[in-house]
Amino acid sequence: MTDAELTSELSDRLARVHERMTDACRRSGRQPSEVTLVATTKTVSVRVARALFELGVADLGESRPQELWRKAEAIPEARWHQIGHLQRNKIDKTLPLVVLTHSVDSSRLLEAINRFGTAEDRRLPILLEINCSREQAKGGFSPDELPKLAETLPTYTGVDVQGLMTMAAYHEDPNLCRPTFVELRQLGDHVRQLTGLPLPHLSMGMSNDFEVAIEEGATIIRLGTTLFEGLEAE
Ligand SMILES: *Cc1c(COP(=O)(O)O)cnc(C)c1O
Repeated sequence: MTDAELTSELSDRLARVHERMTDACRRSGRQPSEVTLVATTKTVSVRVARALFELGVADLGESRPQELWRKAEAIPEARWHQIGHLQRNKIDKTLPLVVLTHSVDSSRLLEAINRFGTAEDRRLPILLEINCSREQAKGGFSPDELPKLAETLPTYTGVDVQGLMTMAAYHEDPNLCRPTFVELRQLGDHVRQLTGLPLPHLSMGMSNDFEVAIEEGATIIRLGTTLFEGLEAE
């Protein structure tokens, strides 16, 4: 694919995604400006990621830290998001590169990021990943342990907890993901009440279910497949 063909293909796909985002907002009485699209570039080359960035998608996400380092070096102008599991020994190299870490999935990781932020005299923006679908294979805090964790959040001075993130289980019918998204929104409301923190963000919704997520209050959606399926990996 030439650069021109790639840009044309991505432009069509992006227009379709924007249309679907706008329709979901309309159905739920929300403004499109309330929802940020993070394009998850983990399956595509730097060339493809850059072409989408140049079409105006400023927020890019990677699930593996090493891959984020590599792409962030190639496209430093993008706003990078760490969306997958982060090992504690990669905190110092990853956090300075990102605008938001979505996948803080354990107390040990939270404490380690807090220590790094405190040492750097910064409040590092993070989301707490919640395992709403309660799948064994998935990481994240369980919804049941969240109230107890919430009590301790105001004592963390090296992080800025901006909200919650979840991944729904895959369902052919995206409406079956709705209870997961409703639960994340309600957990967010509950933690906001308990802590007094503003918690503006809910990061939920992927290619298969983003419209339902928007209807239920997503402020950030993370899309890979619907933008990048079939495009070059490297
Ligand atoms: C890959 C990935 C996505 C994007 O998933 P698609 O179904 O391809 O849109 C979203 N969130 C996380 C955490 C991911 O790893």
